[in-house]
Parts: sequence; C-alpha cells; structure tokens
Amino acid sequence: MFENLSERLGGVFDRLTKQGALSEDDVRTALREVRVALLEADVSLPVARQFIKAVEKKATGAAVTKSVTPGQQVVKIVHDELIAVLAGEGEPGSLRVDSPPAPILMVGLQGGGKTTTTAKLARRLKERDGKKVLMASLDVNRPAAMEQLAILGTQIGVDTLPIVKGEDPVAIAKRAKTQAGLGGYDVYMLDTAGRLSIDEELMAQVEAVRDVANPRETLLVVDGLTGQDAVHTAENFDTRIGITGVVLTRMDGDGRGGAALSMRAVTGKPIKFVGLGEKMDALETFEPDRVAGRILGMGDIVALVEKAQQTLEAEQAERMMKRFSKGQFNMNDLKMQLEQMIKMGGMEGMMQMLPGAAKMAKQMDGAGIDDKILKQQIALINSMTKKERANPQLLQASRKKRIAKGAGMEVSDLNKLLKMQRQMSDMMKKMGKMGKGGMLKQAMK
Ligand code: GDP
Repeated sequence: MFENLSERLGGVFDRLTKQGALSEDDVRTALREVRVALLEADVSLPVARQFIKAVEKKATGAAVTKSVTPGQQVVKIVHDELIAVLAGEGEPGSLRVDSPPAPILMVGLQGGGKTTTTAKLARRLKERDGKKVLMASLDVNRPAAMEQLAILGTQIGVDTLPIVKGEDPVAIAKRAKTQAGLGGYDVYMLDTAGRLSIDEELMAQVEAVRDVANPRETLLVVDGLTGQDAVHTAENFDTRIGITGVVLTRMDGDGRGGAALSMRAVTGKPIKFVGLGEKMDALETFEPDRVAGRILGMGDIVALVEKAQQTLEAEQAERMMKRFSKGQFNMNDLKMQLEQMIKMGGMEGMMQMLPGAAKMAKQMDGAGIDDKILKQQIALINSMTKKERANPQLLQASRKKRIAKGAGMEVSDLNKLLKMQRQMSDMMKKMGKMGKGGMLKQAMK
C-alpha cells in the first residue's frame, strides 16, 4: 500500500540525505517537491498546504543536531508530522464495546466493502477479544446483501439475525437490539444499506437507524482506492451521521495513500483499521508510524537518525581519546563532557561509565552533582573567548572576573571549574598512558 506516494517522496529524500549541509533554499525546494508528491498522491490541496506549512515551521525552528545531516533532520520532521496527522486522537484498532450489548453501526457507500468489513470485524472481536457477536444486515433493497452477510457469518462462526421479509431497516435494528440483549451478546453490528452515491434517502435512513441503536461506534467503510471521493464521502457521513472512525479498504491494491492523509486531516476522525484483501483475516489495525514510514519509503527514519547519531558520537569519542592521551584536555572538551553528563542523567550516570570518575567526584567535593551546577559550569565556559577555552592557562585575575561576571557567577565558582579541568586533564593523561588508551577506551564505550 502507499507505493506511489512512497516512491515519489523516496526520490526527494534520497537527494536530501545525500547532501551534507542544507540551506533554507534547499528545505524550501524539498518541501515544494513534497507538496507536488502529496498532491499527485491524491492528498487534497488544503491538506497538503497545511502539512507543508507545519513541516516548514518545524524545520525552520528546529536546531539541526550536530550528529545528523540536515537532510535526515528534515526527513524526521516530515515523518513525525505524517504520524501526527495520521494518528491524531483516538487509538487505532480499539473499539468501544464495553457495556453489552454494544451496538456498532457500519456505514458507507455500496461496494466500499461494508459487508465484508462487518464480517472481518466480527471475526476479530470474536477471536481476539473473545466477544460474542451478532450481525444484522439492514440492506432491504438488496436481498443478496443480506444473504451475503449470512454466508460470511456461517463461514466465520458468528451469528446473524434471521432475515424477515418486508421489514424496514429501523425495525431490523430494533429486533437486533432485542435479540442481542436476550441472547447475551457482547456486541451487535448493524450493516446498513449502501448507495452508489450519497443521497438524502440514504442519509435519512442511516440517521433513523442511528437514533434507534444509539451506537457506541459508527464506522465508515470507504474504498481507499477512490482518493478524493473517499474524502468527500467521509466528510458527508461525518457531518450528517457523526462517525467515530474510518476503515479504509482495498489498501492491498496500489492505491494512492494520500486519501488516508486527507481523510484524517479533513474529518479529524481516526482511521481505525485497513482492509488488505478479500479474505476474512485481511484486516489490520491502522498503524500511523508504519504507514508514515511506508509513505516515505525510507524505513524507520527514527532508527536511521539514531544510528547516525551513534556513529558520529563514536567517531567523536575516538578523536577525543587521541587528544586526551596526549594530555590535551581544554575547556571545549570539558564543556562537551558536562553536556554529556547532563544527557546521561548527571554525575551519577557518568560515574557508571567512567571507572575513575567516582573517586574524582569525591575529590571535587560534590561539584557537578546536579544538573543546575552542570549548567552553571557550562555557562562559565560559554562566557570565555575561543582562545581562553582552548588554553585555560591564559586565565588571569582580570579575565576571571570578566568571565564570572558574564556568567552571573563568582570567581570562586570559576576557580572550582578550573580545578576540575586540571584534574580531569591529569586523569585523562594517566588513563591514556595505561595501555594506549585502553582504560579510557573501555570507559567511553
Ligand atoms: P459493500 O457493498 O460495501 O457491502 O461491499 P462488499 O463488502 O460487498 O465488498 C465489495 C467487494 O470488495 C467484494 O468483492 C469484497 O470481497 C471486496 N473487498 C472488500 N474489502 C476489500 C479489501 O480490503 N481488499 C480487497 N482487495 N477487496 C475487498
């Protein structure tokens, strides 16, 4: 599913991820292509616009993490935004079927897969949730539809309400309700009649049934292949009947996945399931992250970014170790260590990584134990000039005063920091000498 959109966006991001740095222009160009791809994939224009706007805003505002390329960063933002739009509120795959007998109203156009989906869902409720389900067809116009549901019921071992000729949909709904109560059913499903297109008669009928059944869930079944039409159908049913969720069928075909995105954005109602074939087990929970990943065609973007991050951190560590073992440990290094400490959960987290650090922490009379102190120390380093950071020996009285003032702190705080830097420098040197960085290497892993 979603192959079209996936391929198109895949191409765009292929180009992006190959670039080392990304200018604002590049972001804009890329997003223009994303927009075209979305439109070609049948995402409606307002939805595409809204989507691009959200991404642009986030991409522009977000600081690009050092360890990933800007391209990857944009990919992740697009990915996250896709998930946000696709997921919205409401848990996919979940149905409110507590308080038995819980009515589920199935609505949609003819041929959308309503009857098939009713049976698929009944089977799922029975097999996964151990529910006792009763199904009833309300399609009085097409006797074949009623028989179709009965046949499917037999096939999956779910009861159907006996067919009574000449009954109208509201009467059938009432009978189903009574029967569900008497028969001790957990859920009863009402498969309403469909039409080829939306008309007043259909809507009035569904409305009347809804008022009788007072459904816990009203699920719209739409053909995912119909693109924009599916979105209009959803809009119409939601306005008139009030749906609680959507089931997108025929997502096994080469449908243009844009419908899912538009539908979600336009109705604000969750896509709960997707139909992936004609067989009774071809129904799956709609998974926004998986679908977003497939739309992008780039696998798990998050994992990609994380992996890139790890690789770069490892390379950084390697370079640092080389310098440390030569006794080069300046304020830039200390700043990086402090930031790392904050990331790892303060001094405690750090001590678990560095065997020698526990002893040192004691010597430093508790300096840097909590995040606040770590942040103050970073502020002091930030207040130094480039030269001072690279060569802390430069720090004489007047410079110290300036730096402390700049960070809103005392010279005594700065002295503590300098002591810390010296101690760490010595320690790193010692560790570096021990078996060519062996211990440090271990510690940094
Ligand atoms: P209804 O008129 O809305 O009740 O539609 P039906 O349930 O009768 O389905 C119409 C046709 O679509 C049937 O041939 C189904 O087997 C088929 N169908 C339903 N759902 C899916 C699906 O998810 N994938 C595929 N490939 N076919 C489906």
